[in-house]
Amino acid sequence: MKERPSFPARLDRPAGPAKGQKRTAASGQPLPGQNAVVAMPPGARGVGLDSSAVRMSMVRKLEAQGIRDPRVLSAMGAVERHRFVDSALVNQAYEDTSLPIGLGQTISKPGVVARMLDLLLDGRTGHIGRVLEIGTGCGYQAAVLSRLADEVYSIERLRGLHDKARDNLRHLRLANLHLLFGDGRDGYAAGAPYGAIIAAAGGEAVPQAWLDQLAIGGRLVAPVSTGASLAGTQALLVVDKLPQGLRQTFLEAVNFVPLKSGLG
Ligand code: SAH
Repeated sequence: MKERPSFPARLDRPAGPAKGQKRTAASGQPLPGQNAVVAMPPGARGVGLDSSAVRMSMVRKLEAQGIRDPRVLSAMGAVERHRFVDSALVNQAYEDTSLPIGLGQTISKPGVVARMLDLLLDGRTGHIGRVLEIGTGCGYQAAVLSRLADEVYSIERLRGLHDKARDNLRHLRLANLHLLFGDGRDGYAAGAPYGAIIAAAGGEAVPQAWLDQLAIGGRLVAPVSTGASLAGTQALLVVDKLPQGLRQTFLEAVNFVPLKSGLG
């Protein structure tokens, strides 16, 4: 069986546990002096103890927007989005809005996250197998994905955000989530083939590596530039890799941060 990287894996140095080593979310352990019971972040008052009620109201709005898959709704209802944003923004955490997460990047709107996950799961039963996410950002979508897939590999090109995601995710101790630091345009061949690939940043076209690393029967959802028209125009693209070839479906206009090259 193929070895998988430990958590968090890095692409800039040899990844993967030694043979026989138990794969655990090592960084899920509390830091010295830190209690395993995680307190609400400072500034969480107002979301505070009743965050589940605010989250349920977000889930009802997602349903009203047309998200029907109970697996997606349940995962969105379970992950505490307010833990992934700066304390000053906590009271906006359950609004359907993107929010800054530093280094010029944003956490996607809950509506867009749910829509993409709904598309990924559409027509499939149970858990999706291995998933590759490009653009970890603050780690929110990765946490939601980890509830829907067997294994999640999430790549981020900005070290500051890769580190932030690791910090944000520590309390969740998600043993099936692998954070990778690298240029996601190359995908992550060591985890391939993937049952699903999801990108949180949009480029001119879908990189060939993603298509190569998608399993037959797998599905990719990504924002892509629609080219001809005004700069910055993107649409959601769904690619199904069928035995007879690729089937592409362009959907609604979206607005994601650009897919960039190299590390930062
Ligand atoms: N899913 C994230 C959304 C983050 S925004 C969340 O829940 O917060 C998109 C992210 O994609 C940004 O952090 C950006 O740095 C990252 N990104 C852009 N180009 C990339 C690339 N080539 N490889 C990996 N990450 C990339």
